[in-house]
Amino acid sequence: MSVNKENYSQLVENLTNKQVQLVAVSKTKPIEDILALYNLGQRDFGENYVQELVDKEAALPKDIRWHFIGHLQSNKVKYIVPFVHLIHGIDSFKLLKEVNKQAAKINRTVNCLLQIHIAEETTKFGFDEDELFKLNDLAELQNIRVTGLMGMASFTDNKQKVRSEFTTLKKLFNQFAEKYSNCTILSMGMSGDYEIAMEEGSNLLRIGSLLFGERV
Ligand SMILES: *Cc1c(COP(=O)(O)O)cnc(C)c1O
Repeated sequence: MSVNKENYSQLVENLTNKQVQLVAVSKTKPIEDILALYNLGQRDFGENYVQELVDKEAALPKDIRWHFIGHLQSNKVKYIVPFVHLIHGIDSFKLLKEVNKQAAKINRTVNCLLQIHIAEETTKFGFDEDELFKLNDLAELQNIRVTGLMGMASFTDNKQKVRSEFTTLKKLFNQFAEKYSNCTILSMGMSGDYEIAMEEGSNLLRIGSLLFGERV
């Protein structure tokens, strides 16, 4: 088992009294590793792949709050909508409408974050600033609750660049929150950049390798 309990305790201690949530990113990691953190009190876990998430949800305790943090394809929405706690990676209005449709079928309201493209890499997904503020039809989607924004900084050693991308996202978040009162979650920060993310106003960290070891 590769779970790093010491890193976990340190991180949890670090976040105490800071109003910052921790999502433990368990993608590709086995059930036993998730249970090891569960037994230390962790309840929020994040996954990137639909089939993997569905299998793990079925096998693990029901009080786990599952976060879908990957790139979600419209045709797979229906598999996670019945139980997912928060979908972080909404990157198009079309996807939002599909989540709404599937959620309506089972009479659920699903919490969603809009993913914002802040990184330089064009391979990363998300809305840009213009698109975000052109979204005027959110209120029509009655089975969706947009509870915040999510973003990923560029993959680089340039800390200044990472910081400025997080600053940009935090500004957008503040503007968006003025318009939408449900918008309270700012999901930014991973193992390599969570300290900067917190300094720039993140209130939800998505941390994988620091807790579960490197992925292969
Ligand atoms: C894998 C992943 C993480 C966790 O990354 P680490 O660097 O292992 O902490 C966070 N967010 C997203 C969107 C991811 O895909």
